[in-house]
Amino acid sequence: MGKKIVILGGGAAGTIAAINFAEAKRKHGLDMDITVVNKDEWTYMPPLWADVALDGLPIEKTRAPIRNLEKYGASVIVKEAKKIEPAERKILLSDGESISYDYLFVTLGLRNGWEGIPGYDKAGYHNYDPQAAVELNKTLRNFKGGKIVIAVPEVPFRCGIYPMEFATALGHILHTKGIKSKIVILSPKMPDVGDISWALGKDIGKLWHKYFEKYNIEIKRHDGIEKIDDSSRTVSMKEEEETHDRKAVITKHFEETYDLLIKVPMPRPPDPLNDPQFLYEQDKRFVKARPSDFRHPEYDDIFLTGEHSMPPTGLGTAGVFVDTATLKALSILLHELYGVGEPTEVHSVACVAYSGDKGFLGVCEVEFNGQEYTWRNCYNMAENFVMKIIKRAFYQGWLDKLRI
Ligand SMILES: Cc1cc2nc3c(=O)[nH]c(=O)nc-3n(C[C@H](O)[C@H](O)[C@H](O)COP(=O)(O)OP(=O)(O)OC[C@H]3O[C@@H](n4cnc5c(N)ncnc54)[C@H](O)[C@@H]3O)c2cc1C
Repeated sequence: MGKKIVILGGGAAGTIAAINFAEAKRKHGLDMDITVVNKDEWTYMPPLWADVALDGLPIEKTRAPIRNLEKYGASVIVKEAKKIEPAERKILLSDGESISYDYLFVTLGLRNGWEGIPGYDKAGYHNYDPQAAVELNKTLRNFKGGKIVIAVPEVPFRCGIYPMEFATALGHILHTKGIKSKIVILSPKMPDVGDISWALGKDIGKLWHKYFEKYNIEIKRHDGIEKIDDSSRTVSMKEEEETHDRKAVITKHFEETYDLLIKVPMPRPPDPLNDPQFLYEQDKRFVKARPSDFRHPEYDDIFLTGEHSMPPTGLGTAGVFVDTATLKALSILLHELYGVGEPTEVHSVACVAYSGDKGFLGVCEVEFNGQEYTWRNCYNMAENFVMKIIKRAFYQGWLDKLRI
């Protein structure tokens, strides 16, 4: 009997897995059953939610019907998964049914965490889900000027460039409309580089700072956001400093007021993975996976290539990383099971993003040292107006695979 491959989560990584397994099945005549379980009728392309917020792109343009994966030869179950039982090789679904597997690809993304900072869940706007992006767009259209604060409580967060990309693109729109504004990005301090604007290295950091000057954007560093008081429109933060003799740490508290708050969620494990069998012991915001092949360290039949498992392998929380991780994991499994192809390796990732009035192509070198990945050398390969068009076309083109 053919192997039953279940893909849990039909977002960026899940659809890549399903389409590539289905193509291998067809090309090599493999005896394989592919099933995708997704809680939603739609698969979304989250980078396009920035266009919803900034340009009023309709939500319909950010998604495609998940059931169109059936046209590739995969079965689709639209149900929410509640729990994975690895010892039993089954997934419990919200309606009480269960589904069994021979091999499981877990691609559930990350949950948007708003809890833990008093006031954070209720205050402000964001574009980390489609409906929220529509609300942010309405608010921005009515914005008459003042201070916009983009709050980033923790690193990493979904898509490492997002706050700078959003701030510079928004800065350009406000500048063009003649709306007087200041944008403040509240960044966690990062020991090696300073703050999130330098996280991808000097080349890309300089690109952001060019726009920071042009559009009145400032980065302020903190060691933690403590609370939000939306009635006084204040973000309270802390800063920790070592004393001169390095024997003690002094905590200072400071505030930033805002006219409009845009917030970035904290990364948290999706509910079915919020289980000691899956959580990464060193950082329980994430889910463990073996860097060499993205397998669960104890269960060889489970591959975890969703955003939830990127930091434990050394990779970043972005679509470009889950894409390459998924392709590597499935190449390993196809080779092991059927002897087809060769296992691939991740050497670089490329991403198109907005930068002010333009777009740019960013490329990061990725290296696997046998233990984990490192990927800090990133370059701005080209910045121009065409890249801006290519960015949206790239993500729309991705969804077009499922608009057949
Ligand atoms: C605003 C924003 C901008 C971004 N910009 C970029 C960018 O420019 N470049 C880039 O590379 N990345 C970007 N990203 C990140 C990128 O979108 C993610 O890295 C990528 O989508 C992660 O893929 P994934 O498959 O792990 O998760 P997702 O794409 O989030 O998919 C998870 C899927 O699992 C399903 N699911 C969740 N829970 C359950 C459950 N219990 N049962 C069944 N199904 C479930 C969901 O419905 C969803 O379909 C951005 C993200 C955001 C939010």
